[in-house]
Amino acid sequence: MRCLVWFREDLRVNDNAALYHASKAANNGLIAVYIISAQVWRMHDIAACRVDFILRHLQILSDELRALNIPLLIIHADHIKQVPELLLQLMQAHHVDALYFNEQYEIDEMRRDGAVENLLKLHRVKVFSYTDQLMVAPGELLTMAGNYYTVFTPFKKAWLKAMVANKVMLFPAPTKQIQLPIKGDGIPAKIAEFNNSIPIALWPVGEKQAQDRLKKFTQTKIKYYAKQRDFPAIDGTSVLSPYLAAGILSPRQCLKAAMEVNNQCLDKGDEGIICWINELIWREFYKYVLYAFPRVSMHRAFKIATENIHWDNDPTLFAAWCEGRTGYPIIDAAMRQLCQIGWMHNRLRMLTAMFLVKDLLIDWRWGEKFFMQHLIDGDLAANNGGWQWAASTGTDAVPYFRIFNPTAQSKKFDPNGNFIRHYCPELAHLSHQLIHEPFECATKDIFSFAYPAAVVNHAKSRQRFLEVFKQG
Ligand SMILES: Cc1cc2nc3c(=O)[nH]c(=O)nc-3n(C[C@H](O)[C@H](O)[C@H](O)COP(=O)(O)OP(=O)(O)OC[C@H]3O[C@@H](n4cnc5c(N)ncnc54)[C@H](O)[C@@H]3O)c2cc1C
Repeated sequence: MRCLVWFREDLRVNDNAALYHASKAANNGLIAVYIISAQVWRMHDIAACRVDFILRHLQILSDELRALNIPLLIIHADHIKQVPELLLQLMQAHHVDALYFNEQYEIDEMRRDGAVENLLKLHRVKVFSYTDQLMVAPGELLTMAGNYYTVFTPFKKAWLKAMVANKVMLFPAPTKQIQLPIKGDGIPAKIAEFNNSIPIALWPVGEKQAQDRLKKFTQTKIKYYAKQRDFPAIDGTSVLSPYLAAGILSPRQCLKAAMEVNNQCLDKGDEGIICWINELIWREFYKYVLYAFPRVSMHRAFKIATENIHWDNDPTLFAAWCEGRTGYPIIDAAMRQLCQIGWMHNRLRMLTAMFLVKDLLIDWRWGEKFFMQHLIDGDLAANNGGWQWAASTGTDAVPYFRIFNPTAQSKKFDPNGNFIRHYCPELAHLSHQLIHEPFECATKDIFSFAYPAAVVNHAKSRQRFLEVFKQG
């Protein structure tokens, strides 16, 4: 049988379910394909730095596959709707009998895959799909009443139970295949209109880089994770999210590495390791929510009643937030981090998201879109989950009356102001008391520098949000 493996958000040779199964079945050659579509990236607000990251990595993946005699072909699709026909043409041209891919859970991708399957079956081509982005298939986890979970803690319990039963098994890389008279395609270095401005040295590509980062994290930092993860000035988290989002690294590889330094335990043992595993389960939860409640993929609130909230959507305030000039240093430093390196620390994602929604009264969808357009780890499930959590519109979201005070959070999680100093150098000379609230010293000489006054008064905007949310 001649097989085609379709790479999507699983850009790795090791521990790749579809690649593994395709390589086992292919006794008459294995070919790989990746589909590049600027239209899809545009439609999904994919950041230029993420496109650049993917293209750079594809080059390495292509070389690794070539060493296994698996040519990587590239399809350029002008529109997502063309994908089934283009795949069929490629398969017919190369006499392929079966298509293999790993599942995706976003609504457009699920519809696309359904259309591919229907068309290929009409042409008697077999289609095999696998659960790979998730460690437990979404259909495996249901409440006693047979419903999908909407709350994290019971989901986590069910997930842990399933994982103990499933065990963490990694799929080996394929062995060298028979050589085919088919040459792999060149990978474009750049796609017009996606102009990356983030230094690429910050985000090296390749499975080896990802594995090295994982190893370094699990062997040194993971034990301190519970204590350090909330402090953005400390390098206390794994920063593996871009690799997980592109599938350069699998969640199983992460879990296995964590368990290896935790006496093979999943749910007890070292506090830092358990805390990190918990985040991997949040990742699973939000993908599961995407699968179970497709409306969240379609710009809809999970809690439908919250769709009546009357947002202010002031474009001037939105621009101040985007550009890091709200006058709240922790918010501004965080937004500048996002724009300068394409990544933002989790505590700051929570803070900036809540500030946009609850202090500036701007629709969470505006922030969700802006994040996607700038994040190198942009992932619909985690991003939507995080935004709907902060806006109190989502599954297991923060209650609407819980509103972070940005200044108090700044003092708590950046006590010496080191993070602020790095991204807001114009404030670097302030003492670590004043750096969190420069507006407090606006009348003094010390404030003779270019930094905006606070765009809102937190106490007043908090009150306003509470009223608007109750009415909505
Ligand atoms: C408003 C908002 C938007 C977000 N947008 C994204 C996004 O687009 N892409 C993304 O990968 N994460 C997103 N997150 C989740 C989280 O902030 C990042 O995953 C994390 O900061 C990445 O850093 P890390 O790799 O060092 O994470 P670690 O702390 O080392 O965690 C390990 C991995 O677990 C996963 N993870 C951690 N926290 C979460 C979480 N809360 N939800 C889901 N998965 C999690 C990530 O894959 C992460 O790489 C968002 C959170 C919020 C509040």
